[in-house]
Amino acid sequence: MDLKIFDRLESEVRGYIRSFPVVFKQAKGATLVDETGREYIDFFAGAGTLNYGHNNPLFKQKLVEYLESDGIVHGLDMATGAKRTLLETFERVLLKPRNWKYTLQFTGPTGTNAVEAALKLARQVKGRPNVISFTHGFHGLSGGSLAVTANAKYREAAGVSHANTVFMPYDGYFGPDVDTIVYLERMLEDRSSGLDKPAAVIVETVQGEGGINVASLRWLKELQRVCRAHDMLLIVDDIQAGCGRTGSFFSFEPAGIQPDIITLSKSLSGFGLPMSLVLMKPELDVWQPGAHTGTFRGNNLAFVTATAALDHYWTNAAFASDTQRKERIARDHLENIVQSYPGAGLSVRGRGLMQGLVSQDPTFASKVSKKAFEQGLVIETSGANDEVLKLLPSLTIEDEQLKKGLEIIDRAVADVLAEHDAASSARVLKFGNR
Ligand SMILES: *Cc1c(COP(=O)(O)O)cnc(C)c1O
Repeated sequence: MDLKIFDRLESEVRGYIRSFPVVFKQAKGATLVDETGREYIDFFAGAGTLNYGHNNPLFKQKLVEYLESDGIVHGLDMATGAKRTLLETFERVLLKPRNWKYTLQFTGPTGTNAVEAALKLARQVKGRPNVISFTHGFHGLSGGSLAVTANAKYREAAGVSHANTVFMPYDGYFGPDVDTIVYLERMLEDRSSGLDKPAAVIVETVQGEGGINVASLRWLKELQRVCRAHDMLLIVDDIQAGCGRTGSFFSFEPAGIQPDIITLSKSLSGFGLPMSLVLMKPELDVWQPGAHTGTFRGNNLAFVTATAALDHYWTNAAFASDTQRKERIARDHLENIVQSYPGAGLSVRGRGLMQGLVSQDPTFASKVSKKAFEQGLVIETSGANDEVLKLLPSLTIEDEQLKKGLEIIDRAVADVLAEHDAASSARVLKFGNR
């Protein structure tokens, strides 16, 4: 496979091509195929963009029909039939059954565009610049979103300072015995804590990029209570954890909360087509007409597939319970791995089909990912030091393929731990057991 042009012409900034150095050609469901015809099981799913698999045949059919009919492809934010159908479907499938009232804002097509809009809106509504985000949070890499993203690698790349944000400890940051909500509330209550009163709090219910850290449902409920008590808007960034990844369509549903603002992107179109949305409580819609714009807010192809996704997967509870069933398969398997190597310092965390195998050794997850790729599995790492092996298969993956992928992880973990053992006994031989 010829990768030379990528090295020669493409910037050093390229990332995933380094972890998976092959040229991909085709994909269907949870299977990727490279140019030589070799197949891979996909446990990465476009970083959570392909919850319904690659080239989902139902959506593809709708897309082809739409293109054949010369349907509008690019529509700025003008009214189109495809957009109307999406709005109607969103209301019928998601809002009405929950008895929720949200106003929808179509933003530029990437996740960070939705986060930018959400932060702008919150600051306008409250007339205050400060926003609270959380340790290990990830919200995108453009100016405003980057300011609420925690990882120093990304922050430093900007070359400017990131103002008007304050980081607070996420659930579990100091271990299971410290309730970080108590800390947050104390800081807010104390007029001499030094904390400028925030307009909003932005949070992920499960931190996708930050290491599959899971906020407890109690913590999320408490966070909503604190937001209301202190006149701050609660923004849930559901770009990765939403669209069914954790079971329910919105990841925060089991906590029984109703955020003031919600961001959606990644799997929203269902097909990997770029599209983002901000949901806001209707009374927060203080935008002046055209005050926040963008050329690519009308990706009608994405509207067509997003409509198909809602209609096909979300009109009853079957899809959510199937995800929970697959969660148990994955979770049991990973816990088995942890128990098989009691001395290896491994653990599991996650919610839904968003699970992480965590090691205390920061090189472990990357090594397992590499070994797994050699054996035909695409799987990425996450966390501040890439210390977490991140399982993010499509939700539509067949059981057989899911199990096959998990077995590849078994073998990769065994190989990596065996090499560690061999390396440490070699050290003992060389230096003596000191
Ligand atoms: C991926 C992601 C973003 C940013 O989305 P982009 O499309 O990469 O800009 C924002 N928030 C969360 C939680 C994400 O996972």
